[in-house]
Parts: sequence; structure tokens; C-alpha cells
Amino acid sequence: MSASIELRNKRVLVVGLARTGIATALFCAARGAHVTATDTRAGKELGDPVAVLQKAGVALELGGHRQELILDADLIIPSPGVPADAPLLQFARSKGVTIWSEIELAYRFLKGRLIGITGSNGKTTTTSLIEHILRSAGFSTILAGNIGTPLISCVEKSSEKTVAVAELSSFQLELIEKLRPNISVFLNLTPDHLDRHHTLESYGAAKARIFQNQGESDSAVLNADDPGTTPYAPAKPQVFWFSRKQRVAQGAFVKESEILFRREGTEEAILKLADIPLAGAHNVENVLAAVAATKLAGAESAAIAKGVRSFAGVEHRLEFVAEIGGVRFYNDSKATNVDATLKALDAFPGRILIILGGKDKGSDYTVLKAPLRERAILALLIGVAADKIEKQIAGSVAIEQAGTLERAVETAAHAARAGDVVLLAPACASFDQFQNYEHRGRVFKELVHQLERQAASTTSRGR
Ligand code: ADP
Repeated sequence: MSASIELRNKRVLVVGLARTGIATALFCAARGAHVTATDTRAGKELGDPVAVLQKAGVALELGGHRQELILDADLIIPSPGVPADAPLLQFARSKGVTIWSEIELAYRFLKGRLIGITGSNGKTTTTSLIEHILRSAGFSTILAGNIGTPLISCVEKSSEKTVAVAELSSFQLELIEKLRPNISVFLNLTPDHLDRHHTLESYGAAKARIFQNQGESDSAVLNADDPGTTPYAPAKPQVFWFSRKQRVAQGAFVKESEILFRREGTEEAILKLADIPLAGAHNVENVLAAVAATKLAGAESAAIAKGVRSFAGVEHRLEFVAEIGGVRFYNDSKATNVDATLKALDAFPGRILIILGGKDKGSDYTVLKAPLRERAILALLIGVAADKIEKQIAGSVAIEQAGTLERAVETAAHAARAGDVVLLAPACASFDQFQNYEHRGRVFKELVHQLERQAASTTSRGR
């Protein structure tokens, strides 16, 4: 790609030493930069990576940092977890120091094509699906983002032949300069991370930066059904839409029970809705976006259909765990916001026992009332947000304050009868009781598997 930079002898400051920060520091050090890395955590909390970084020649300033560090830097790369308006970054900006996210740095070195995916929900699912379709269609692909590897760690693998499929968050997009996907996908925009972005407008604008450097030879894929994203349709790249509800001028849409792709007035059937192996209308949207993106990348329609049919889904996203005595258990631990929970409730016809709660992100849970009344028979509340949720959903469904996930699963299993669904889709972050949503999901699955084992031993003893 065109905008490569010379890192040799550049003074680079990496802020935040989680996976992305560590990879970034090592990348820059390997290319001859003078790298300093800082984290608010102390060395002993960071563990093994400290020695690895030191060995690579990275200077460390841990347990906080001095302001001079910023004045000494030519380039600052903050981790995705550091907000763009953090005092440290505001100070750097006031001093004219360049600040890039890791994806901008990676882009400067990445070879081949780039498909970027952003949105409030569905990024990981759609990114994985696009990569899966292209790989099974014979493309040489790279999967980057939340679920896989930071884009910076994929640079070495890239070549003129590769297609990098990357999930891009608003936090990363806020700090790009030249990053230009060949194909960009903006899935949807719903209130999330408002604790960090403050307004929906600034959150949407950050995501729409995915289009800012695209030119006429590039394509943009947007959700025609989502009033949150349509205003961001860009002028320069060719715009393709996806819709579950209407025929679109160009792009992918549902007609009767099929997905069609339309381009320059010609329509082509790609696959039947019944062939989608994932539950929920929101996953139809993800498939539509993936169909549009992979068509634009040059995949054959039959290969796209085959790729969708063979997609196994992503862990912690409406993941089926087990069926015990006719009760099905689903792990949607990644439903860390209200919209994802709404979609999860919508994915099942009824008699849901739902586990809600965790760390509140300033969300409004009242919007859950109507779907809870319609589809759920019991809400089991856990974590710090439990009281707020109880107040906001009162009157819609029976509520049980379960406190912990263990109690919630146990209570749900007792209360459920054959045909019911027990659903972990908590609408909250996990950090009050768990390390992260993956940890919460794994604990849930383990609790369900314990129940499964107990049920199996009871059955075999009864024989
Ligand atoms: P992200 O990477 O954007 O967080 P994921 O694919 O990890 O997205 O899914 C996050 C949560 O949102 C899961 O609970 C999932 O079931 C739900 N979800 C997935 N796709 C969509 C969509 N298109 N619209 C709304 N919710 C979705």
C-alpha cells in the first residue's frame, strides 16, 4: 500500500500493554524504532510480556507515566482501550504529536486488499463469516480483529494476493489518517459505549470514518434498514446496501425466502434463508452484509452460498450449549448491550428464561419491557446492574434476583420445562464479576455442562 512510513529511529510511545499494545511495541522495535511502552498497571500485574518487551529493547514505564514521555515522542499509538479524549492524548494533541491507532500503523505496512467491518453489533460474526466464505472460495485470507489477531500482527503474512478481513472498532477508527479499505461495511448503529463517546452522533461519526479515505474504485456496504447508519452513506466510494425488508438499488436483499444480489440492474439469487445455519433475524442481516462484501470481492455466487451454509458461528454469540430434558441453553455472553439482547430475545419464539445483568454501561433497559412481556417467562438478574434493571423492567415479566451466574443457572434449570429456552444475554458488560465476556460465557457453559452430566447420571441410575 502507498502510505508506508519509515519507523527506523522514530521515537514511538505505545500506551497500554494488552495484546494489541504488546504486538505494536514489538512490531515497531523490530523495525528499528526507539520504543517506549507505558501502562497504568505495574510490572508484576503485566507478567511475562515484560521480559519479552525488555528483550526486544522496549523501554518500559509502568504504573503510570511522566508527561515528558509524550513530549519525547514522534508518534503515539494508544491501545484500543484508551479513549480518544483521555488527558494524556489531549495533551499530546495540544503539543502536535501524531497519534495513530494500531490499525493505521498496520495499514501503512499491509499488502494486498483490505475489507473493513464496523458497526455496533455483529462485527465479529460478519468479519468471521466474510473471511470464512472467501477462504472456502479459494482466496488467500487474513482474519484480523477482536476474535483473531490484531491487524499489526498480520502484516508479515500479507502479500499482494491476500485479502485481509478486519473488524474495526470506533475507538480504532477515531485515530486513523490514511487507512482506506477496498471494501468497507457499516453494519448498524445503536447506543453502546455512550459512556465513552458521550453522544450517538460522535459515536456514529467515529464509525463513519471507515469511509473517509475511500475513493471511486472502492465500495461501501451499508444497512438500508437502519436509520442510524443510512445518513452516513458516503459520496465517493460506490455504495451498496443490504436490507431484509426492501429491494435495494445495488446490493443484497431478501425477496420472499431468498437472498438476492443486485448490481447494475441485474438480480441474482444467492441462497435460501432456510440455508442460514445461524438463529435470529440479526444474523440474516450479517449474512446479507457478507453476501454483498464477498460478491464485491469477486467470489462466485455458488461459493458464497456454500460458505454461508458451512459457517459454524462464533463462540459466545447465540451459541447453542446443550439440551437438557427438552430445555435448550444458549450462551450469548457477547450480548453486552441492550440492542444485542433485543436481538437475542427476537431469535426465539417464546418461553425464554433470560439471565440479565452485570456491569451497567449507562444503558436504558426499559426498551426490554415489551419483548420480555411477549417472549420471556422469567428474568434472572445478576451483578451490579441488577437493581437498576429490576426497576426499569418491573411489571413486564417475573423477576428473580439471583445475584450470581451459578444461582441464575440453577434457578432457571429448575423453573424451565421442556420446550423452553434458557438464555444468557445479559445486556451488560461482565467486569463486575468476570474478567471479560469470554470468561462469563465459559463459566455459563461449564455450569450448563455440569447440569448435563448430573442429568445423564440421574437417568442412567434410574435405568
Ligand atoms: P461485535 O463484534 O460487533 O460485538 P458480535 O458478532 O460479537 O459483534 O456480536 C455481538 C452481540 O450482538 C451478540 O450478542 C450477537 O448475538 C449480537 N449480534 C450479532 N449480529 C448482530 C446484528 N447484526 N445486530 C444486532 N445484534 C447482533
